[in-house]
Amino acid sequence: MWKDVIGQERVKKIIRQALEVQKFPNAYLFSGAEGLGKDAMAIELAKVLNCTNSYTEACEDCANCRAIGSLGSPLLHFVFALAKDSGKEESSADDGEDVKVDVVREQIEMKARDPYHHIQIPKALTINIKQIRDLRLVLSRTMTGGNKRIVIISEAHTMRHEAQNAFLKTLEEPHDNTLIILTSSNPSWLYPTILSRCQDVRFDLLTPVEISEALIERDGLEKEQADFLARLSGGSFSAARSLINEDVAGLRAQVVQLLRMGLSQSRRNALGEIDHFLPRAGGGSFLEKRQTVEQLLHLLTLWLRDALALVAGSDEYLFNSDQLDDLKRFTSRFGSPRGIVQALRSVETAQRNVRLQLQLRPVVLQLVIDLEQALVTG
Ligand SMILES: [Zn+2]
Repeated sequence: MWKDVIGQERVKKIIRQALEVQKFPNAYLFSGAEGLGKDAMAIELAKVLNCTNSYTEACEDCANCRAIGSLGSPLLHFVFALAKDSGKEESSADDGEDVKVDVVREQIEMKARDPYHHIQIPKALTINIKQIRDLRLVLSRTMTGGNKRIVIISEAHTMRHEAQNAFLKTLEEPHDNTLIILTSSNPSWLYPTILSRCQDVRFDLLTPVEISEALIERDGLEKEQADFLARLSGGSFSAARSLINEDVAGLRAQVVQLLRMGLSQSRRNALGEIDHFLPRAGGGSFLEKRQTVEQLLHLLTLWLRDALALVAGSDEYLFNSDQLDDLKRFTSRFGSPRGIVQALRSVETAQRNVRLQLQLRPVVLQLVIDLEQALVTG
C-alpha cells in the first residue's frame, strides 16, 4: 500500500493504525534525514484522509486525490521557506519580495510531480511570521463537508523565533477537522514547547534495495547503476538521485583530493585547490555549485564512515567497497577512531553551513582546516 512512498514500512504501520481507529494527534512531527520521504508521506496522508473512494489508501483518481496531489487543493496547506534570512524578523508587507513568483510556482510544480523533490529557492531560507499569520487566518475558518484539512510545515525548523512563537499559538488552538504535520530534518532547532505538542514519528534510513528498486522504477535506471548509487546514498533517496547524472567517480576522486589537502598541511595550495571544487568558478548558478558541494560532503561522510568501519575491523558493508585499497591506505596513515569521528563532525558542520546558504568558499576552506585538525594534529 501507499506505493508513492518508498519503504518506511514501520511508519506506514503507525499511520495505518491511526487510520483504522480514525484517531490522530493534533500534530505530527515527521523527523529524519533529508530524502527519506517525510513530505511524501505527509502528502499521501492528506490524500488518504480525503479520498472519496477509500479510507485506507489514496485512489489517485478522485477529485480530492488529484487536487491534493497537485498541491493545489484548499484542503492542503503546504508551507515552506520563502523569505530570505535577514537576521531580523520581517513584518513589513514586502516579505519575501526577493523570491520570484515564477520560481516558486515552478518549484511547487516540481514538488507536485515528485514529492521527493527538495524545494530549492535562492535566498529562501526561512518560513516567516507572515506565512504563519496567513495560516492562522485560514485555520480560523470553519471546515464543512466532512473533509479533513491538512497543514504541512515542510522543514519546520526553518521557522525563525517569531514565526515559531506565532506557530506555537496556532498549535495550542483547537481547529475543526485539521491535522498539522511538521516535517523536519533538524528538529532540535524547534522550540521544546512545539516538540512537546507533536507526536514524533521518526523516519528510517532506506535500505539499498529499496533505493535501488525506486531508482529503476521511477528514474528508469539500469540495475547496475541503481545498485551502485543506492550503495552511495547513505539511505537517502534524494541523495541517490542527486548523483544520477553526476560523474561519481570524479566526485569521489575530489573527495580523496579534499582529504589530501586537509592532510598535506599546505594551506596556501589548499586555497587554490578549493576553486576546483566550486565547479567552474563564475559559471554555474549558486544552487548548482551548492549541490556539487553537498554531494562532495555526502561522499566524504561515507568515506569517513567506511574508514571508521575498517578501523573497527569490519570491511563487510562498505559504501566504497570498490575502493578498498585506497581506503586501507588512508586508514593506515590516519587510523585514529577519535580523529575520524572528529572529522565526521566537521563535515556535519560544513553541511549545515552549506544548507544555510553561507558562502561556499570559506565553508570549504574551514572544513580543510578542521580536517587537518581532526586527522593530523588532533
Ligand atoms: Zn481518491
